[in-house]
Amino acid sequence: ISEDLKNELANELCASTPGLSMTKVKEQMFYKVGLADAVDLFRARRVFIKDGFAYVPLRDIDVIVLNNYRTKLSKALALTARSLPSIQSDERLQPLLNHLSHCYVGPDYSVQKNSGKISLEQIDALSVKSFPLCMRQLHKALRENHHLRHGGRMQYGLFLKGIGLTLEQALEFWKKEFIRGKVDADKFDKGYAYSIRHSYGKEGRRTDYTPYSCMKIIMSNPPSQGDYHGCPFRHSDPELLKQKLQSYKIPPSGITQILELVKGMHYQLACQKYFELTHDVDDIGFSLNHPNQYFTESQRLLSGGRELKKELSNSGNSQQKSNSQESMNSNPTPTSSNTTAGAELEGLEAYFTED
Ligand code: SF4
Repeated sequence: ISEDLKNELANELCASTPGLSMTKVKEQMFYKVGLADAVDLFRARRVFIKDGFAYVPLRDIDVIVLNNYRTKLSKALALTARSLPSIQSDERLQPLLNHLSHCYVGPDYSVQKNSGKISLEQIDALSVKSFPLCMRQLHKALRENHHLRHGGRMQYGLFLKGIGLTLEQALEFWKKEFIRGKVDADKFDKGYAYSIRHSYGKEGRRTDYTPYSCMKIIMSNPPSQGDYHGCPFRHSDPELLKQKLQSYKIPPSGITQILELVKGMHYQLACQKYFELTHDVDDIGFSLNHPNQYFTESQRLLSGGRELKKELSNSGNSQQKSNSQESMNSNPTPTSSNTTAGAELEGLEAYFTED
């Protein structure tokens, strides 16, 4: 409502809206809403009513929005329930429907705008500052064991590709690390190098594979013993996760919040909380769906692209060593321009299956 109307009704608004003093009435915005939409507020005697309208303060407007959403959702669900039998009997739609809840529709991070902008020397520091927990643990496991099993190589390799590692850099990165372990240069060139070129679309079917989304990582096969891929918020034992977060100097209150989210199966929200705590921001400002999105947003924040609550030089201190954790094997995702058929995945899968 306008300021004039608000001033005109100020006494009534103040008297009929519990918890609002005259000063607060002056500060607060009010909305004139049809009575039918404000029944809950009306029933609880929380709003001023006149001529079939409720005068709702901004602080209570969420009740109206929620009611509206609930009504629309309920209508849509009823409609869906009615249509479901005929949709389910259509075999063309069935696979689409089954896939819907796991479907990722955000950017696929296959376009490597930053290709070549990251040097291999930066990766250790970046893994602490800007990698989500899943990639941080993979990086640490790789550095410690000089090896990653199939699922880890897929998840981490495609992530690195997404953040800008060129094919040449990826070959150098993996080779340097693997030959420090049990794999000699010859074995690497014959086996692993092919698979890396393959993931860059330079071998086999030449599919340009995209980095995994959170949904894919969370929903795919759980990790086995000796695996480090997957989502730590989804696949870690809560006690191990707690220890890991403690070792990264996450404050106890933050750990409690993360564990609560994990308990409620809100894994991506837990990851968002981790982002906020490690970057020292109050609000992440985006909805997290992809590890590469986490990286991009972190870099944007650290480079001053977004407003900071505190100097981010401190945030490096809040992140320390990673820990190891299991994760699961999952198939690579071809870019949207490529076919999604399992056949496309077979080639790469085969080359990566060697432990
Ligand atoms: Fe990685 Fe996504 Fe899990 Fe975060 S929520 S740890 S980005 S998979």
